[in-house]
Amino acid sequence: MDVARVAEALRSMGVGTVREQEPLSRHTSFRIGGPASVFVDPDHLDGVVKVLDWVRDQGLPYFIIGQGTNILVSDRGVEAVVISTVRGLRDFRVEPPVITAGSGVLLTKLCRLAEKAGLTGLEFAISIPGTLGGALVMNAGAHGGEMVEVVESVLVWDAVKGVHRIDAAEAQFQYRQSRFMKNPWIALEAVLRLKPGDPAETREKMRHNMEYRKKSQPVGEPNAGSIFKNPLPHYAGRLIEQIGAKGWREGDAMVSDLHANFIVNAGSATARDVLELMRRIRRTVYRETGIVLKPEVRWIGPGEGGAEATWENLWYAEGGGLTEP
Ligand SMILES: Cc1cc2nc3c(=O)[nH]c(=O)nc-3n(C[C@H](O)[C@H](O)[C@H](O)COP(=O)(O)OP(=O)(O)OC[C@H]3O[C@@H](n4cnc5c(N)ncnc54)[C@H](O)[C@@H]3O)c2cc1C
Repeated sequence: MDVARVAEALRSMGVGTVREQEPLSRHTSFRIGGPASVFVDPDHLDGVVKVLDWVRDQGLPYFIIGQGTNILVSDRGVEAVVISTVRGLRDFRVEPPVITAGSGVLLTKLCRLAEKAGLTGLEFAISIPGTLGGALVMNAGAHGGEMVEVVESVLVWDAVKGVHRIDAAEAQFQYRQSRFMKNPWIALEAVLRLKPGDPAETREKMRHNMEYRKKSQPVGEPNAGSIFKNPLPHYAGRLIEQIGAKGWREGDAMVSDLHANFIVNAGSATARDVLELMRRIRRTVYRETGIVLKPEVRWIGPGEGGAEATWENLWYAEGGGLTEP
């Protein structure tokens, strides 16, 4: 990619900030990641759509980023136009029992809006970091709730149809996955349908969920949330704890002492350190239990074409593979 030419063309659109070779470690909760060739931070919805249309027309690789709380970015970075949603897609409307919000709005903000409007249904999300868009992609969930329970429809952009609306069923939400992961849909805005509730009860549930989170997860250290999905009916954290992996370390990547399914960046960890540690965990859990752990965090880096396929490529290409049952 001719980085200077692409950046110049994007600047001339006047849609927001454009940076070249922007370190993605600045935009991920892991504080890990090499540079994005071009990083665009549009300041309104039309700007986001304009950039998406342009990168499609130019045939350029692109990647959308929210708060970067669920990604592991390669140390080599990404040769792509990385488009941020946090500034451009932050509008919202509260029309009880419905909240319509841009996909760059933080989940915690949505929870507070719901609480203020006397609405219930989003209490599960109070302690999940990240944006609404990231939460839709992963069907984020916690404390027995998940996004699928509240999403009514999503305004999306795709390379063929441009901007259009899909209903929740089309997104095929399942446990920590959705069609967003396989389909090049970009979520622009979502309609969430909640229910009238008792504000005091809602507040209490949120307080309880936040308290629980503080006690059970390393919230103060850089991390990307759960590293592996739960291989239901088992819990990844329990399996990893059983193999004695708490405190295991590769470089500055370390298995959290508080929650075994969290890897923390204990200083200047690299993506390679995290990958090494993930491989070791995955191999040992498989050897001892016969269960194959699948990553929940998404890999962003060279060679990807879909998170699942990418992980499989990484396991094998870099010598960390195992025989799948
Ligand atoms: C401490 C901690 C605790 C966590 N706890 C939980 C938890 O309890 N439950 C849970 O489910 N998750 C949890 N997570 C993971 C993460 O917070 C969620 O998955 C969150 O929804 C990701 O949002 P994000 O904006 O950070 O997405 P990002 O990390 O920026 O992006 C994640 C993926 O979504 C894509 N994406 C982002 N925005 C859009 C969009 N608008 N349209 C299309 N694709 C998009 C990106 O391309 C990327 O592939 C936790 C993370 C941390 C750090």
